Amino acid sequence: MEFKFSVEENRFRETVRTMLHADPPGPGVDPEIGDPLFERRLAAQGWLTAAWPKEFGGRGATQLEQLIFKEELVRAGGVLPGAGVNLVGPTLMVHGTQEQRREHLPRIASASVRWCQGFSEPGAGSDLASLQTRAVRDGDEYVVNGQKIWTSSAHLSDWILLLTRTDPAAPKHRGISMFLVDMRTPGVTVRPIRQIQGMAGFNEVFFEDVRVPAANLVGEENRGWYAATTTLDFERSGIERNFVAEEDWNRIFRGLRDHSGALLAGPEGTVRRHKLANLRVEVEVGRWLARRVAWLQTRGLVPNSEASMSKGYNSEVGQRVSEFGVNVFGLNSQVLAGVGAALNGKAAFRYLDARRLTVGQGTAEIQRNIIATRGLGLPRA
Ligand SMILES: Cc1cc2nc3c(=O)[nH]c(=O)nc-3n(C[C@H](O)[C@H](O)[C@H](O)COP(=O)(O)OP(=O)(O)OC[C@H]3O[C@@H](n4cnc5c(N)ncnc54)[C@H](O)[C@@H]3O)c2cc1C
Repeated sequence: MEFKFSVEENRFRETVRTMLHADPPGPGVDPEIGDPLFERRLAAQGWLTAAWPKEFGGRGATQLEQLIFKEELVRAGGVLPGAGVNLVGPTLMVHGTQEQRREHLPRIASASVRWCQGFSEPGAGSDLASLQTRAVRDGDEYVVNGQKIWTSSAHLSDWILLLTRTDPAAPKHRGISMFLVDMRTPGVTVRPIRQIQGMAGFNEVFFEDVRVPAANLVGEENRGWYAATTTLDFERSGIERNFVAEEDWNRIFRGLRDHSGALLAGPEGTVRRHKLANLRVEVEVGRWLARRVAWLQTRGLVPNSEASMSKGYNSEVGQRVSEFGVNVFGLNSQVLAGVGAALNGKAAFRYLDARRLTVGQGTAEIQRNIIATRGLGLPRA
């Protein structure tokens, strides 16, 4: 891979910068909800779905251009597009019916609906194919019963992309079907899960005799596993985790430089400075690992262990940076709010929040398994 962008890619970055400079996201955007008005303006110009093909309302941008767009959006203080743009749209483009595409793609592209991903269950996370939520055909409908967990943003979503078991007798990967489910259907209950840092970003979702039109089946019955694989394969650069690490590093750096200069003095200060420098190197390495994934995709190659390297490495760098933030500011970094809270409480908040990085979208161990087997060719355990 080349460690630089092409002339066209740099021009693309400039276009994005100019656009974001002229029309920036609102200040102090809620990281969960984002800025809906700004999102609609982006959508109106096709930026939200930049990497979608033009025929589906996108700009036909490459994966690398999509990554450049994300880098600039985050730098400008914006929130990245959610599951609709990243997961549901691409899945429907490959596996959806004409009617499903006609109904859902324009609404996703225009940011008028919000989607969540209903895959994980209490007994099915890393081993997703063990999922037990049942869907049973009844005339023109399926009746769904079961439970999902860790469903990000379900409490804010209009629709859920749902994986269910339709044939319990079949080998586990072959008895799964995927559905599009309206969250307002009777029998759907959402219960937010309060997290260690105080907020509730994800949920349990319960399904009790939920009737879903058979027309909402994505792809063929019992072939949902293969549709899910497309969903999980679409955008896997891991750049989001690199953003987290960089944002935290920048905040700690500014805090030390501007307000806690004494912490950088003397022999202990030298150790801290070196640590800060090492972490900066790790952040930069992580960025290029993420760019490499998008670079491969742009050339029509399918990243595999490269995506796991990026996701795994950037997650762990994010945790190391947040751990440094807690250690360097001492006791002040242990309070989330109030007088003396280091980095206005962000040191504590980010440390607690970073725990999720090595679990969501495949745990650290699963990423290592993929690197070991598919990347290095080692035998499975
Ligand atoms: C912030 C966040 C957001 C999420 N959002 C969503 C969402 O929107 N939708 C959704 O469906 N899910 C979501 N998830 C769930 C996520 O995909 C699962 O948590 C993840 O797949 C791990 O599954 P699990 O929690 O059941 O843990 P388990 O799979 O039970 O793993 C427990 C431990 O065992 C280890 N382990 C498991 N299998 C192996 C193995 N084969 N080899 C070595 N070690 C192993 C794991 O690494 C882990 O340490 C989210 C999770 C997080 C943290």
